[in-house]
Amino acid sequence: MISSISFVILSVFYNLILSFTFFYKSHIKTPEIKCFKSLLITNLFGLLCEIGCYLSLKYLGTENIFSIVLNKIFLMYFVTFIIIITNYFISISFNNEIYNKLKKVIFIISRLIFVSSSLLIALLPIGFSVEHGVYSYGPAVDIVYVLMSMIVIFNILLFLFRFKYVNKRKFIPCIVFIVGCGVVGAIQSFYPYITLSTPMEMFVLFIMYFTIENPDMAMIEQLNTARDQAERANNAKSEFLSSMSHEIRTPLNAILGFSQALAEEDLPYQANEEVKDIVMASETLLEIVNGILDISKIEANKLEIVNTEYNLNTMLEELVSLTKARIGEKPLELKYSFSPDLPKFLYGDKVRVKQVVLNLLTNAVKYTKTGWIEFKVNCVKMDDICRLLISVQDTGIGIKQESIGKLFNKFERLDIEKNNTIEGTGLGLAITKKLLELMGGKIVVQSIYGEGSKFTVAIDQRIITTPTNPVLERTQELSLKDLNLLNRRILVVDDNMINLKVATRLLQDYHCIIDTLSSGSECVNKIAIGASYDLILMDDMMPKMSGTETLHKLQEIDGFNTPVVALTANAISGMREKYLSEGFNDYLSKPIDKTELNKILNKFLG
Ligand code: ADP
Repeated sequence: MISSISFVILSVFYNLILSFTFFYKSHIKTPEIKCFKSLLITNLFGLLCEIGCYLSLKYLGTENIFSIVLNKIFLMYFVTFIIIITNYFISISFNNEIYNKLKKVIFIISRLIFVSSSLLIALLPIGFSVEHGVYSYGPAVDIVYVLMSMIVIFNILLFLFRFKYVNKRKFIPCIVFIVGCGVVGAIQSFYPYITLSTPMEMFVLFIMYFTIENPDMAMIEQLNTARDQAERANNAKSEFLSSMSHEIRTPLNAILGFSQALAEEDLPYQANEEVKDIVMASETLLEIVNGILDISKIEANKLEIVNTEYNLNTMLEELVSLTKARIGEKPLELKYSFSPDLPKFLYGDKVRVKQVVLNLLTNAVKYTKTGWIEFKVNCVKMDDICRLLISVQDTGIGIKQESIGKLFNKFERLDIEKNNTIEGTGLGLAITKKLLELMGGKIVVQSIYGEGSKFTVAIDQRIITTPTNPVLERTQELSLKDLNLLNRRILVVDDNMINLKVATRLLQDYHCIIDTLSSGSECVNKIAIGASYDLILMDDMMPKMSGTETLHKLQEIDGFNTPVVALTANAISGMREKYLSEGFNDYLSKPIDKTELNKILNKFLG
């Protein structure tokens, strides 16, 4: 049946080299790779079988039963190879998901074709020629030709229909196979003794090797290990930062809390000035801690944008009063104008929008000696979306044109000679830009060196017509003196004595009854025996029983309905949501900010 046996012997070597190269590496288990593996093994079997057929026909004769059976097995090999290669073409024509859905049908059809063709090959007669080259013919061989022609037509159709959707490179073996079948078929119809089918199949596999997805698994494993290590290091860094922030915040709570309280006392002039300086310095330190924490969260993709409904008027008023406080004694005028068509209620990340604008306002105050600062808010409405256009202009030192590009780099401070008396870390604008990116907003800067700067921000927020939270309706927060907390009972639970002292000192101004406890279990016992409070401020990070566990125990006590506010120095993102989902009524971060405390007291006791 073969005279060109040398092609086959050569192909065995090629197959062995290719198999060694392929099986030497480990591979991902995709349908494509699985088919390729089966094809390599099947082809090697076919090549060896073909050599066996050649030898048996030549030396045992055409009537020998062994020769007949071996030749029929060789024809069955063809059927197998054709079925697997068609499977391969289907696997590259569809994505894994579709292929996995088709898998069952393909499996059944493949089995049916294999069983019926093998039966026909086994039953139908086969003839051999050995005089003019060794080859086989007859109905059993014709079955293979028919099947081959059918599969070629199927592959052409598959190629035409799926060409658009598939990586073209992957179709190269398919084209080579179709053309190869045509050429080999034509050659063999004229010279049946030149059997080139198996070497042609080997050639197709050779081409296929370069088009299959064949990643180096060892390298992937190395990359995975490196990625795991980097992730672990990054987590360690985040944990370190969050615990560092916790550790710094706890003593800062005492410094800021007591100095804020002292600043309101009637102190001698000199002492009062010094206390104000302590307040300012500790606020700056807190800003630095928060800035470092924010930038590392952003870089670790851990900063989440938390959208809620909020009152825009309240936010703008807060921004104005905070800016006025920052201007203090500076000879600076704050002009502000808010467009009358601004919606009252919006849906977005209030905390982050406020942070962005406050940062621009703070910079304007910091980098302007005299003159004015103008804070303008306009909007453009598109259906239920409101594009807030917020601008902050100043008559300050301005920014050199060539420095504008560096403005948003982290830790970048410009004009150091001029600014060396102004405190800052160079993180504010980097955080502002990243926050805006996260919220889908934009920032532009215009500046004339020596004359002033203008920062304009655009952020889209959704308009809310009627807020679901009625508290938002209140535009003006009550001030401290409006709050009458006489005889209201507040319990503070914290394991740290200084924190308890700070909270007590800050609450004293409200003339309420303050009780303190230093552990969760004491709190649970006290409430269980019937003590009642109007509000509980609960530290979360306590040894033995955390604030969250304490809250859960309290909730099990019959009739317990006192609002509990989480108190924590852990100010990482998403904390508010975490505490609310645990069942706390609100969240207050340490160092306790007097304005925030005021808001909380207003909300629950006002
Ligand atoms: P920081 O103010 O903490 O240094 P920022 O990131 O907020 O950090 O600002 C980076 C730099 O940009 C500042 O150091 C300052 O040189 C410059 N800058 C920011 N805002 C203004 C402004 N309104 N006028 C002049 N320079 C400004």
